Amino acid sequence: MIWSFSAHRTFRKCPRQWFFKKIYAHARAKDPLRREAHRLSKLEGIQAWRGKLVDTVISETIVPSISRKHPCGLDEAKKIADQLFALQRAQRMAPAGQVGFFEAEYHQPLTEKMFDGARLEIHTALENFYRAEPVWKLLQQAKALVRQRPLSFRHGTVSIRVVPDLITFQSPLVPAVLDWKVNAYPMRDYWLQLVTGAIGVTRCNPHRDWPSGATQHEPHEVQLLEVQLLTGDVRFHTLSEADVHDADDFIAISASEMELACGGSNPKDLQPEDFPVASDPKACQTCAFKKLCWGAET
Ligand code: SF4
Repeated sequence: MIWSFSAHRTFRKCPRQWFFKKIYAHARAKDPLRREAHRLSKLEGIQAWRGKLVDTVISETIVPSISRKHPCGLDEAKKIADQLFALQRAQRMAPAGQVGFFEAEYHQPLTEKMFDGARLEIHTALENFYRAEPVWKLLQQAKALVRQRPLSFRHGTVSIRVVPDLITFQSPLVPAVLDWKVNAYPMRDYWLQLVTGAIGVTRCNPHRDWPSGATQHEPHEVQLLEVQLLTGDVRFHTLSEADVHDADDFIAISASEMELACGGSNPKDLQPEDFPVASDPKACQTCAFKKLCWGAET
């Protein structure tokens, strides 16, 4: 089983949604319901979409330009964001599109005003990124910038996967893990996500393009930065050895809850009805798998 922070968050909301998303959905399955689950798993609400678009512009345009020592300007970043916005919006609204909007799939309002608001927030997020001086200082002084890199490490019987938005290696190679957010979630969630990143960067096998000696650190030595792009807040988090133990315990408990939910069976042999539904019905309002789940109940 693979444990990730997003798997944990989904499982806590609804074990059945976790099963649909992390185990059942498969693009090339023979079972058409599993292929449909895969299609639904790609749906995104407009809020999540605009957050990912900001991630894409920072990771694929701004950070590489900093690595090349020719940082692209804010106006250029906004222009690229606008082009992506128009392209992805058209692709998602196309009748035969591979990925769609959650709102369109579930007949919820998707208005021009919502798109205008999303575009405005993308611009605000980029403006705040350019204003975040401590982040720019760190990025411009770094020996290496590693963006959106999946890190894997073992934790007991479980594989842990974490994808920090950015890892930087400073001189003398103490890593920093950065996560930027365009959405508002509780503080505790952010912290845990960053700690998992710190554990990942120190316990995974060093990647080929990392500077040598880059992983010879303990998780509590890693610098953690949370960048709130809608408000412009940059938070430095400090980590003690006790925090790392707490995070390890947290992962172990969360992973064993997932294993228990599978009742000792191989998760691939199970069906959605084998998993409990959300305890809070509000979770269903934003669940992409509603049509499959509610269909299974009737
Ligand atoms: S519709 Fe509700 S109960 Fe069903 S998977 Fe989604 S969140 Fe869970």
